[in-house]
Amino acid sequence: MTDTYQDRKIAGLCTRCGDPAEDGCQLCPKHRAAQKRYAKACYTSARDARRKAKACVRCGGKRKPGSKWCVACLIKRGKVKTKGLKQGQNIGRDRIAARTDHVTEGDGRTRSRFRGRGAASGRMSNEEKTDADLRDAVEALRKCEAGLVLSRSPEVAALPPIQRKEALLAALSHADHARRFLVDLLERHKYPTERE
Ligand SMILES: [Zn+2]
Ligand SMILES: [Zn+2]
Repeated sequence: MTDTYQDRKIAGLCTRCGDPAEDGCQLCPKHRAAQKRYAKACYTSARDARRKAKACVRCGGKRKPGSKWCVACLIKRGKVKTKGLKQGQNIGRDRIAARTDHVTEGDGRTRSRFRGRGAASGRMSNEEKTDADLRDAVEALRKCEAGLVLSRSPEVAALPPIQRKEALLAALSHADHARRFLVDLLERHKYPTERE
């Protein structure tokens, strides 16, 4: 059984039925679709269960009051609304959308996946890429800031330490995201990061 599996895998055939596999996949279109349906069904039932249990629909953690999400998941999604921050600055939104793929993953969920230097960026001039990276970095830093504000709020301070830490890490993940845009930007301009 394992031999068949390995042989098919190496030959680029569907590991379940031996028909030609789809590019970049171990399964034929039929079995791939079946697997996606299965993953989606699992995911949907898990999500339903969380909904019924009034838990965060994303991770199953404790919900933020008035939300279907926990604090860390809200922050991670960049869905935090804060008073002190300027909202509605949509500069660069279109460009972010143009550089974002919607990918269906193994669990059947569709996630937006950012293309740093993908097909669309190939058509952009260096100046445009620089602008896009800068705006994306600013956007990510805004999400980071909003997340940090929330993670320091009395509401989050009242949560157990693990959840407080998750909220902080979720906020910082946006700073990490911003850093990657900035590294791209600096590298494109061959900025000398290490000065001797
Ligand atoms: Zn197949
Ligand atoms: Zn969550």
